[in-house]
Amino acid sequence: MTRVIGLTGGIGSGKSTVSRYLAELGAIVIDSDKVGHEFFKPHTGAWREVVSAFGQQILTSEGEIDRQKLGKIVFDNQEALLRLNQIMHPRMKELVKTQLDEYRRQGVDVVVLEAAVLIEANWLSNVDEVWVVAASESTVLKRLKEQRGLKEEQILARIRSQLSNEERIKYADAVIYNDGDLDAVRETVRELWQNLHQ
Ligand code: ADP
Repeated sequence: MTRVIGLTGGIGSGKSTVSRYLAELGAIVIDSDKVGHEFFKPHTGAWREVVSAFGQQILTSEGEIDRQKLGKIVFDNQEALLRLNQIMHPRMKELVKTQLDEYRRQGVDVVVLEAAVLIEANWLSNVDEVWVVAASESTVLKRLKEQRGLKEEQILARIRSQLSNEERIKYADAVIYNDGDLDAVRETVRELWQNLHQ
């Protein structure tokens, strides 16, 4: 039977890194960010709702939704973020469910659903267990400043718009603490993978 792991954590906690290691070990990974991008293509229902909520100024010259422009609006404004989430999350949940059903049908062993919003968007019913990646605020700030060139206040605004580590951990079947180096997190992931297959 297919096992579906919901992998969540705050911005910069290391979700993509953990997903990459899980993929190396044989998991199929669904990146919910990419699922969301499907709906940013021009003239889909979600696109129309987002444009009517936030205006034409959030579009690229090709008419696609510009995630950076949208991000600037929603991460400074809790109400705008809620509005966007109301448009996006139910559609994403539906599409994710379709993908998961297909993997189940194919008899895939382990599927990882990587989703920052797994808990907030109420997708827990789509997964069999929840793994939380947690890194301290200072670690996240350091990594994202260095590696994504984000400014401290941008990172903090995103962290504040999300659940805290403590809140996420309440839902966790496993917690992957990621304040150490890459070898350490890879080893933690390997152990969790082994436990799954015992
Ligand atoms: P998320 O997907 O949760 O936003 P990422 O996996 O993209 O987080 O990690 C954020 C950044 O930190 C990336 O540049 C990644 O390479 C780096 N990173 C993640 N874990 C570690 C680690 N243990 N040591 C050093 N850098 C790390």
